[in-house]
Amino acid sequence: MGSSSEDEGEEYLFKIVIIGDSAVGKSNLLSRYARNEFNMHSKATIGVEFQTQSLEFDGKEVKAQIWDTAGQERFRAVTSAYYRGAFGALVVYDISRRSTFDSISRWLDELKTHTDTTAAMMLVGNKCDLESIRDVSLEEGKSLAESEGLFFMETSALDSTNVKKAFEIVVREIYDNVSRKVL
Ligand code: GDP
Repeated sequence: MGSSSEDEGEEYLFKIVIIGDSAVGKSNLLSRYARNEFNMHSKATIGVEFQTQSLEFDGKEVKAQIWDTAGQERFRAVTSAYYRGAFGALVVYDISRRSTFDSISRWLDELKTHTDTTAAMMLVGNKCDLESIRDVSLEEGKSLAESEGLFFMETSALDSTNVKKAFEIVVREIYDNVSRKVL
């Protein structure tokens, strides 16, 4: 991680956005991934924030600039500027709150309106630690992802399940697309 690849002469910077209803865990997924932190009482602050993570593929440094809506979605005010230039997206719902799963199609419509069709997208069912109050089955998540052509993963920002994996699959897919020059 983070080792220099300057001598290879190639560097990549990919913008990735995280979207989904309020309180599904977007900020905590990002803070878990970028800083290994979790906050049970996080209060969204208004304004867009992003974190940059460095990864290495084939000896090349790949930087993922991951954007969090930071509460804008509460006012249905995620702007086209938020999506602009995004090469990938994590579309998040909360497995313990069905209404957040029902919103996914609206988020996908918005995403597809504002991003390139080749953007790498992952459907994320967060809070999988809340098995006892699960409201959306694993199969429902999988089958929605399949029908929409998305990657899929259930995660827990609380206990770290699949968080790193989810982000890194998206970054890897973007990198592969770029290497194959389809973007
Ligand atoms: P956002 O509005 O989508 O950015 O959601 P936040 O990251 O602010 O999280 C909303 C609430 O859900 C907070 O109280 C978090 O502590 C909680 N939360 C986030 N991720 C998880 C998770 O994986 N498991 C559980 N049990 N709670 C979570």
